[in-house]
Amino acid sequence: MNNRKVRVRFAPSPTGPLHMGGVRTALFNYLFAKKNNGQFILRIEDTDQTRYVDGAEDYIIESLKWCGIEIDEGVDEGGPYGPYRQSDRKEIYKEFAERLIESGNAYYAFDTPEELEAMRERLKEEKSSVQQYNALTRAAMRNSLTLSEEETENLVNKRSFVIRFKMQEDEDIHVEDIIRGSVKVNTNQLDDKVLFKSDGMPTYHLANIIDDHLMKISHVIRGEEWLPSLPLHVMLYRAFGWEDTMPEFAHLPLLLKPSGKGKLSKRDGDALGFPVFPLEWTDPKTGDVSRGYREDGYFPEAFNNMIALLGWNPGTEEEILSMRELISMFDIQKVHKAGAKFDHEKAKWFNHKYLTAKSDEKLARAYQTILKEKGINVEDSFVIKVVKLIKERANFVSDFWNQSSFLFQAPKEYDHKVVKKRWKEDTPAILSEFKKQLDGLEMFDHDSIEKTIQNFLEGKEFGMGQLMNPFRLVLVGAGIGPGVLEIATLLGKEETLRRLETGINNIKRE
Ligand code: GLU
Repeated sequence: MNNRKVRVRFAPSPTGPLHMGGVRTALFNYLFAKKNNGQFILRIEDTDQTRYVDGAEDYIIESLKWCGIEIDEGVDEGGPYGPYRQSDRKEIYKEFAERLIESGNAYYAFDTPEELEAMRERLKEEKSSVQQYNALTRAAMRNSLTLSEEETENLVNKRSFVIRFKMQEDEDIHVEDIIRGSVKVNTNQLDDKVLFKSDGMPTYHLANIIDDHLMKISHVIRGEEWLPSLPLHVMLYRAFGWEDTMPEFAHLPLLLKPSGKGKLSKRDGDALGFPVFPLEWTDPKTGDVSRGYREDGYFPEAFNNMIALLGWNPGTEEEILSMRELISMFDIQKVHKAGAKFDHEKAKWFNHKYLTAKSDEKLARAYQTILKEKGINVEDSFVIKVVKLIKERANFVSDFWNQSSFLFQAPKEYDHKVVKKRWKEDTPAILSEFKKQLDGLEMFDHDSIEKTIQNFLEGKEFGMGQLMNPFRLVLVGAGIGPGVLEIATLLGKEETLRRLETGINNIKRE
């Protein structure tokens, strides 16, 4: 690593909601910046007006905030190298594009879409290996290299031009990528990319290079899909004479589908039942709603932790890592080259780990909101006990209800399968006798219930299961849940006896 002050940027285009791969790019930039006492910059790359989507910029910012990624310089924070939204920097790009024309590194091109199509057809017929505007073909096209100065001026004034980069012929470009190692390309494989459009806007390539230079970016950490643009970017740095201060590059591996085959898309999430966006997103045009991790009940720390370990790991056994730990352990050199498979079960496991690490009091408060919505009013102290009992079985706070509704409401029906299997002819008699024993208890706590059961079973011809299975059935209405003794203790004597009575009277053998 060079000795420059570390300044990294996350540079999303507001073309829709931020994919979780994008969040990971932001997170890796952030971890790298904080690890190296550097700055994390948010730059909004909105020069492609045709792809602009309302609300996307706010969505991106809210997503970063939710994840705990703090922005040092950005559209809302400001900073010494602003503005940080490219559409607010329009004037800057034009001047630099003109500089490239003056230095002979770029030229005006006036070809219509039809003319460009005709060129492609011609090249195809000639079976040329080149299918694009480049050193070999530009001489046959309408541009400032082939037209007279007067014609050129005339067409430029009419504003129907683009500015193209004049890619050098047959030059080997060699760049070191922190993750991929050495990247080599010959310029003959590259085309004369459009840098500036007639609408007065730069394209991504031009604006990106100029801004990274002006904003003194030291490291460009971005998705692998930008690797093919790297040689052009290097050539642009050279053309501007900025090669000395060119940032270092690190291209992150793709996030792959759970099967490992191909890039993780929203369609995979829809088909397999998981979100691919951090927050819920409503498409402003269609009104379609896409799920978000936040709304699905993930804790931001769990989500962060999960995505941080997609494509990188600190090489330790421990996987539950706070933001602070991630920062101190992060090593960009150790990011993997291979794509990282997304695993939904693992994502839930992370949430489970964070959930169980939270205090019962905190979880009870969150659960109370759900209970209130259901019209259930119970004391916090009771909910705290419930949470303590069931949290090991939950991944989300929203799982609590399924795991514990029977602690708030007596069963209205009984699971047929369990009745069929567990409710024998002698069950009502066994439960009635057992009920009498419980009724005699003064203290109704775990130990006294346990002792009562032991005494009750002593000398009897039936075993533990013949009592405990139907006992669970009358209390829960099903064969699931935490320990029966714990359930009975929480329900209390009166309610336990009532449920025994109801069960004995209502459950019929099947
Ligand atoms: N605006 C590009 C994007 O949407 C940024 C790529 C880069 O980081 O250079 O991903």
